[in-house]
Amino acid sequence: MTSQQIKKLPVRIYEEWCKGCNICVTFCPTQTLEMSSHGKAVVAHPDQCTYCGLCERLCPDLAITVRPKPPKQKATADDSKEADNGKK
Ligand code: SF4
Ligand code: SF4
Repeated sequence: MTSQQIKKLPVRIYEEWCKGCNICVTFCPTQTLEMSSHGKAVVAHPDQCTYCGLCERLCPDLAITVRPKPPKQKATADDSKEADNGKK
């Protein structure tokens, strides 16, 4: 994964600090996180993250930072036209 891709993830995991205790994976309510074959937590399903912050609060090694939730994208004029077309 490139550094640009990592920056877009909802959660940043500092691999050097992760001791692989599995707490974040166990308690994430949306199964966003998984343990890698290297014994480190990874963001396996970023689309499922709700930015609840639980993993950051529970990690005993302060190895996780949850990024701010991005604002919802506004619908464009083209989107509303498509929606209108769909109704007719
Ligand atoms: S809770 Fe922290 S130390 Fe434990 S697996 Fe998750 S990131 Fe690693
Ligand atoms: S912020 Fe919440 S939903 Fe996202 S990975 Fe952490 S515990 Fe899971």
